[in-house]
Amino acid sequence: MSTFSQFSFTGHKALVRVDFNVPLDENFQITDDTRMRATLPTLQKILNDGGAVILMSHLGRPKDGPNNKYSLKHLVPHLHELLGGKVKVFFADDCIGSQAALTASMLKAGEVLLLENLRFYKEEEKGDAAFAEKLSKLGDVYVNDAFGTAHRAHASTAVIAQFFPTGKKMFGLLMEAEVKSAEKVLHESEKPFTAIIGGAKVSDKILIIENLLERATDIIIGGGMAYTFMKARGGKIGNSLCEEDRMPVALEILEKAKAKNVSIHLPEDSVIADKFDAAANTETRPSDAIPDGWIGLDIGPKAVGIFSEIIKKSKTILWNGPMGVFEMEKFQAGTKAIALAVADATRSGAFSLVGGGDSVAAVNKFNLADKVSYVSTGGGAMLEYFEGKTLPGIAAIKETVS
Ligand code: AMP
Repeated sequence: MSTFSQFSFTGHKALVRVDFNVPLDENFQITDDTRMRATLPTLQKILNDGGAVILMSHLGRPKDGPNNKYSLKHLVPHLHELLGGKVKVFFADDCIGSQAALTASMLKAGEVLLLENLRFYKEEEKGDAAFAEKLSKLGDVYVNDAFGTAHRAHASTAVIAQFFPTGKKMFGLLMEAEVKSAEKVLHESEKPFTAIIGGAKVSDKILIIENLLERATDIIIGGGMAYTFMKARGGKIGNSLCEEDRMPVALEILEKAKAKNVSIHLPEDSVIADKFDAAANTETRPSDAIPDGWIGLDIGPKAVGIFSEIIKKSKTILWNGPMGVFEMEKFQAGTKAIALAVADATRSGAFSLVGGGDSVAAVNKFNLADKVSYVSTGGGAMLEYFEGKTLPGIAAIKETVS
C-alpha cells in the first residue's frame, strides 16, 4: 500500500499542492473542470479521515502580482459543489502572510481552505526557499497531487518538500496514479510496445522519440510532424508542415531505429487539402507524392489500416499527439481510427496510456477516455517524463514512496 493511503490524516492539516489551473470564460465560469475532479479522491480521503485540507495552486500566468483575472476565488463555489455541498470551503486572499496563517490555524477537521494564486509571487516560479518555507508553515503534512506541474522546480511543487520530515511528505492519489502508469510504460512494458507520436512539430517530440528508441518495438509517427520525415527521405510533401532544419535529425532517428531494431512507421498515404480550412477540397495521395499547393492534414486509409494492425498486436501502447487536424471534421478520421484501435487493443489486454494535451482532447472528443487504461492529466510533465528527465516534483518526495 502507498504512503498516502496508509497515512491517517486524523487531526492533521494537510497542505495539498493541486493543479487547479482550469480554463475560465469571461464571466469566470470554469469551462473544463477535469483537473479539479481528478484530485477529489485525494481531498476526500483526507477529509474522511478527519483531517483539514489547505489547497495551494496556480492559475494562469499572472505577470505582475495580484490580478482579479487570475484569482482562485472564482473556483470556490464550484469546489464547494464538487465536494458535495456540505464541506466548508474558505478562501484566503493571499497564500502567505498573517491572514492566510490565521485562517489556516483556525481551520477545523473536515474543512477546506483554498489559498490565493501562488504565482502572484514571483518567488513561486523562482523556487525561492524562504517563500516555500512560509508556505510550509501552514500545514503539518505536505501532499503533492499536481502532476501537471511536476516538471517545474517551483517553490510549492518541489522546494517546499525539504521543510517536511520523511513520512510527512507524500504524493496524492492522482500523482501516484500518474507516476505508476508512466513507470509501467517506461520500465515494465510488456512487448510488443508501440509508441504513437503525432502532433504538429518534430522539434517538440525529438527527445521523446530518442528515449523511446531505447524501449519501444514500434514507433508510429503521424500528424504534421510526419512530413518532415517524408521530405528528409526525399518525398514530395507539397505545402505540408515541414521543419527543414530538423530534417537531418529526422534522418538520424530513422538510422538509429534501424540499428536498434525498432520499426518506425510513417503514414503511407495522407488526406490532403487545397487549403488549411474546414471547407477545403480533399483528396487521398501517397504521403511522399503530395502536389504543390496541397497540404497533408490527416493520415489516409492505407496508413490507418497498417497502423491499426500494429496497435492491435501491441501489449503496451503510449499515445502522444493526434494523427491529423482532428479539430476539423474532414481531417479527424485518422485520429479517430487510431483511438478506436487503441481502445480495441486495451479491451484485448494491452496497457494503454494516452498523454499530452491534444491526444487527450481527441480521446475525450471520441468518448473513448474510459476505453483506454490511463489518460494522463499532465501534458508537459508527461512529455518530460517520457523524455527520460527527472521531474523535480517527483524527485523531491520520491524517497518516501513505497
Ligand atoms: P501538438 O501540440 O504538437 O501535439 O500538436 C497538436 C496539433 O497538431 C493539433 O492542433 C493538430 O491540429 C495539429 N496537427 C496535426 N496534424 C497536423 C497536420 N498534418 N498539419 C497541421 N497541423 C496538424
